[in-house]
Amino acid sequence: GEALAVSARVAPLGSRLVLLLVEDLTEARRIEAVRRDFVANVSHELKTPVGALSLLSEAVMDASDDPEAVERFAGRMQIEATRLTNLVQELIDLSRVQNDDPLEDAEPVRVDELVAEAMDRSRHQASHKQITMAAGGTAELQIWGNRGQLAAALGNLVENAVNYSPARTRVGIAARRVTAPGGDFIEVAVTDQGIGISDKDKERIFERFYRVDPARSRATGGTGLGLAIVKHVAASHGGEVTVWSSEGQGSTFTLRLPEAAAHRDRGTGHGGGL
Ligand code: ADP
Repeated sequence: GEALAVSARVAPLGSRLVLLLVEDLTEARRIEAVRRDFVANVSHELKTPVGALSLLSEAVMDASDDPEAVERFAGRMQIEATRLTNLVQELIDLSRVQNDDPLEDAEPVRVDELVAEAMDRSRHQASHKQITMAAGGTAELQIWGNRGQLAAALGNLVENAVNYSPARTRVGIAARRVTAPGGDFIEVAVTDQGIGISDKDKERIFERFYRVDPARSRATGGTGLGLAIVKHVAASHGGEVTVWSSEGQGSTFTLRLPEAAAHRDRGTGHGGGL
């Protein structure tokens, strides 16, 4: 239907172009199918904490004369509520990366605002674990991009840094301008003193649904989509995300994105979903 209509319209332009366009539509359809899978998967995961909360609240009511049991159940309710919050955040992020062309709404985005938003998102979890978050170098830097997508990307990196770090450690966020042959870039690096990532896993963590330790990640409400979203956002902005890590010592994830002034009049033209 759609593909045929498009090919008929461009037929005079030559069959090579037609072929490209038809391939493009197939790709769009494939991406749409993948996206539907995501939503179904995350929606399914939502049922677990909701079900648990419902059972636990009944248990609390039944145990009203046993303060110790009530406290135990309340603690588990808190864990399930955190999972639920994280899953909902993941759905919000997914909806943010669904635009066909993320750069259609591109604008200069202040790095200090992005960093403040990302830290706010993990504030609760960080204070719970007494993790100190600190940012530097962000003043006056601006990225050329889609604000919601950039917030989703940085938010995920900071969230992971907090999630995969032991209590009483530090998460640092540092930004700087980098001059490269292709134009100026902004680099935002998120550094933690957490569990780190092995060389073997480093190659795979950006894949959808890949988790080094599913049990641990599940406990924090992770679905393994976070870094796939980060990679997608970086790529669709004409940037990249890289990781340095040493097992048991910590990790640094660096987002490299176009600087606002340098890219104001250019689009990268990349579209599509994850
Ligand atoms: P998740 O929802 O599981 O956090 P992500 O896609 O964000 O999914 O990350 C994929 C996996 O990469 C995680 O399950 C975790 O094993 C690993 N990971 C991500 N960030 C870090 C980090 N800062 N330190 C250690 N491991 C990390």
